[in-house]
Amino acid sequence: MKNYKLLTPGPLTTTETVKKEMMFDHCTWDDDYKQITQKIRSGLLRLAHVSPETYTAVLMQGSGSFGVESVLTSVIGADEELLIVTNGAYGERMIEIASHAGIRHEVYMEDYNRIPDAGKVRKILADHPELTHVAMVHSETTSGILNDIEEVAKVVKDAGKVMIADAMSSFGGVDIPVEDWGIDFLISSANKCIQGVPGFSFIIARKDLLEESAGKARSLSLDLYDQWKTMNVDGKWRFTSPTHTVLAFAKAMEELEAEGGIPARSRRYADNNRLLIEKMEEMGFEPYIRNKYQGPIITTFLYPEDCNFSFSEMYQYVKERGYAIYPGKVTEADTFRIGNIGEIYRADIDSLCSIIREFLEVKENER
Ligand SMILES: *Cc1c(COP(=O)(O)O)cnc(C)c1O
Repeated sequence: MKNYKLLTPGPLTTTETVKKEMMFDHCTWDDDYKQITQKIRSGLLRLAHVSPETYTAVLMQGSGSFGVESVLTSVIGADEELLIVTNGAYGERMIEIASHAGIRHEVYMEDYNRIPDAGKVRKILADHPELTHVAMVHSETTSGILNDIEEVAKVVKDAGKVMIADAMSSFGGVDIPVEDWGIDFLISSANKCIQGVPGFSFIIARKDLLEESAGKARSLSLDLYDQWKTMNVDGKWRFTSPTHTVLAFAKAMEELEAEGGIPARSRRYADNNRLLIEKMEEMGFEPYIRNKYQGPIITTFLYPEDCNFSFSEMYQYVKERGYAIYPGKVTEADTFRIGNIGEIYRADIDSLCSIIREFLEVKENER
């Protein structure tokens, strides 16, 4: 099969060196392996700007949604209630998780192209004193919007509630001072901005709140507290761990540091994103998010006015020339998405946009 680079927001294109790490079948009970897990956990705390006295990192098997489900089903007790703040499909997934697990919840739903308003969250919390936890997505990968998690977390902390952030597609690519912003549980996964491969999610958790959650879990495999208790002894995973993914992730973390850490990576992503939007606009494509909240991770573009436009034709054309792009996910408009995270540089954006321009010319000439 012809190889291509991924312009999708995870899994994403990783380096050869990260992929090479997976050529080793590592033993799991061995000390070297447990040390790798411990090193990853402490490295994640540094990236989150939190101290190991107050926070801890837990790795959880499965994709990102498993991490979200683990937190929601482990830390919210039967007599507690969750406010889900949503403006996209990933926020809606939290509603589904809560519904499946029988977690009592309220929903504050905002339009996909608007960020949730911290003032409204304040009012809802004041009107509903029974609410104990608030969950919200940071970078809504559905649209590409970057929500103001800092403002919302401030309101949540003022009200004395627990703040849960799905920072799946932003952590590592956008700097998040987790403790300063008042985030109690942050969830992300191996195959997004740290640039590892799929296989586990990770949770940065306030230790005291995690300890308080003992016995609340509704699931055995996704029990966050139990996973932490085992892992915290010496780095041993509770059940079979995704060994190859863990090795690749450890390498990806070294490469993030070598690049210059989160500041350098977020600069590269933001550059890619700016260049992409500029060039797409030159060709007549309009971004769906038309305000300053367009995030640096992924961009949703509206289909052009031209009613002959076919996304699947463009997708094929672009894929045959080395890049995979993404269909849209917003409900009220015809859109497609282009991610700019992973091992992607300006040259890739230039090259992608030349291919798209060529595609438009070919279509124009066919008429
Ligand atoms: C990728 C992503 C998830 C998790 O998706 P999985 O397919 O389970 O890995 C959750 N939330 C957001 C915002 C995401 O971008």
